[in-house]
Amino acid sequence: MSIKVAEEWLNACSGCEIAIVDLGERLLDVLNLVDFVHMPVIMDHKLYGQLGDQKHIHIPEADVGILTGGIRNEEHLEVAREMRAQCKTLIALGTCATHGGIPALANSYQNEELLQRIFSTETTDPADALPDDVPEILERCQALDELIKVDVYLPGCPPHPDQIYGALTALLEGRPLEDSGKSVCNDCPTIREGKGQLKNLRRFLQPPHYGTPDEPLDKMRCLLEQGLLCMGSVTRAGCGGDVGTPRCIAARVPCRGCSGPVRHEGNQLLDMLNGLASNGIDIRSLPEHTSLLRFSGAHGLLRPKRTKKEA
Ligand code: SF4
Ligand code: SF4
Ligand code: SF4
Repeated sequence: MSIKVAEEWLNACSGCEIAIVDLGERLLDVLNLVDFVHMPVIMDHKLYGQLGDQKHIHIPEADVGILTGGIRNEEHLEVAREMRAQCKTLIALGTCATHGGIPALANSYQNEELLQRIFSTETTDPADALPDDVPEILERCQALDELIKVDVYLPGCPPHPDQIYGALTALLEGRPLEDSGKSVCNDCPTIREGKGQLKNLRRFLQPPHYGTPDEPLDKMRCLLEQGLLCMGSVTRAGCGGDVGTPRCIAARVPCRGCSGPVRHEGNQLLDMLNGLASNGIDIRSLPEHTSLLRFSGAHGLLRPKRTKKEA
């Protein structure tokens, strides 16, 4: 008997859905085992009935629910609650769902400022003003588990298809999902010389030092020790999938922390600041420190105290 799966996207960019499609041929294996009963990106199953004639959102019952994106408006909240009610196991897929992600950068601004910026600039046609019939936005963008109960967390922006495949097959086979508790640094092959090697921070996008483009990564010095603000030590491992090498490091780019903290409840920003302080580095000496604080906030680091969870 196949397992019923429902999927929905909330305050999301659809990159996580693309990561599901990026399973490639393995998607055929998954499709043999599961029956998607609702998934807007691949099937025409409407929220308010196929004719749009229902008053309330309805999602069919499912064994597994997958939600991407955080909760930003009243409709997201209603969809999230319906998914929670209809799905036995609910997966938060992607950092937007687990921590708010990039859309939560907007939490740095008041809603009035955001609406003014989008709908009332000097280039906005008055006819394009905010329509009356769009869902009301909430006070801020919230991670799913701030408002509903989540059973499985799969962060990443987006998660690597190997991670998604591993999680789906574990669920299908009734195996518990493993959380390695490791950081990006654990999977990084660069050369580290140890604490005290970081003397000064350079601008984030300055090129790192290495030999030739063909030189293997294990011949390159750790980017943080080179003075580039790499957040690998405070970021959850796994973005490299089965190959293991972290995706940005493979491109010789510092980790920006997109998979969120190593432990779900961890505080990536404080851990990073502590790490820098233990090397005698003051974050205020970094030209981009304001951006870092904003970006880190998007990944749950400055997350306000949680509201009561709802079932
Ligand atoms: S986690 Fe990243 S890829 Fe997924 S919806 Fe959010 S921004 Fe897009
Ligand atoms: S700080 Fe960055 S470059 Fe250094 S080991 Fe960690 S992930 Fe690799
Ligand atoms: S290296 Fe860091 S920023 Fe890059 S994909 Fe991995 S977790 Fe995300």
